[in-house]
Amino acid sequence: MENVRNLVIVGAGPAGLTAAIYAGRANLNPLVLSGPLPGGLLTRTSDVENFPGFPDAINGFELMMRLQSQAQKFNIEMVSETIESAELVPGGPHKLKLTSGEELLCKALIIATGAEPRWLGLESEEKFKNLGVSACATCDGAFYRGLEVVVIGGGDSAMEEANFLTRFASHVTVIHRRDSLRASKIMAERALNNPKITFVWNSVVTEVVGNTDVDGVKVRNVQTGEESLIPCKGCFVALGHVPSTKPFAGQIEMDEAGFIQLKGGSAYTSMEGVFAAGDCADKTYRQAITAAGMGCRAAIDAERWLAE
Ligand code: NAP
Repeated sequence: MENVRNLVIVGAGPAGLTAAIYAGRANLNPLVLSGPLPGGLLTRTSDVENFPGFPDAINGFELMMRLQSQAQKFNIEMVSETIESAELVPGGPHKLKLTSGEELLCKALIIATGAEPRWLGLESEEKFKNLGVSACATCDGAFYRGLEVVVIGGGDSAMEEANFLTRFASHVTVIHRRDSLRASKIMAERALNNPKITFVWNSVVTEVVGNTDVDGVKVRNVQTGEESLIPCKGCFVALGHVPSTKPFAGQIEMDEAGFIQLKGGSAYTSMEGVFAAGDCADKTYRQAITAAGMGCRAAIDAERWLAE
């Protein structure tokens, strides 16, 4: 069949790029669609301390640039394109429509689209996005030098963002809906012991307030119902992530949250010839190193499936 590619990899985070390294070395000549955030979410983190092989930590952006240049040493093609929709066919070829309007056909597909930030869903949050509301402290933190900021959430991301923001902000207030953190012990203790961070427990943000930019957030204590206003110029939302799997919804098995379901410990999805790796298919671990391992599995599974 004409113009049918062997393998397309959607996503260029740790999963997609590791799949590209393996598939490139296996001479599959994969096409990598790097999507809206080449390098993935790791490019938005500060120091990565838990990726094996970097005892002195490595900046997330630098790690992804290194992974990308490693993948490009092999026979891969990478384009800055995003998928708009997909038509998956058992056994292929699968049709991918890109936001540029171009259409692609491929025999095997590896979905490594990762995840995107979860938002509160408030109208005022939407209104002030990029005007004080952000989901990326590494990207926007430096704008808040000497100013007060809040971080919403109680997981590792929220603790990382809060700690990072103390480099710039005069004070950081973490607002969490419960009275205990979900974050790992080391991340939680670092934030709890940081003198520039205070915690507001059992509280939810009900509105972001301001005129042209953010002046504060309205908070409601979920136990007492008491409402208060916390003044701030920056509001960092760190509520975890949702899988970026919409173009494939209804075509492959996913759980109720949209995570792609894999068969056993493999990278096989419910659709023959379609494999998945990384955060889009992992609601448990969601680490750079596990995503990279899943990318490796997906490339090996795709290679063997193509050979058959
Ligand atoms: P997460 O662990 O899912 O935490 C999300 C946090 O947001 C939770 O505290 C949750 O509250 C809160 N939340 C969710 N929806 C909310 C809502 N609508 N309103 C108010 N609060 C809400 O997500 P994450 O922190 O992004 O971490 C994801 C994964 O990445 C984890 O496995 C984590 O270990 C990993 N990670 C690791 C590092 C590192 O090691 N350096 C850094 C970042 C992330 P509840 O606690 O009440 O559910």
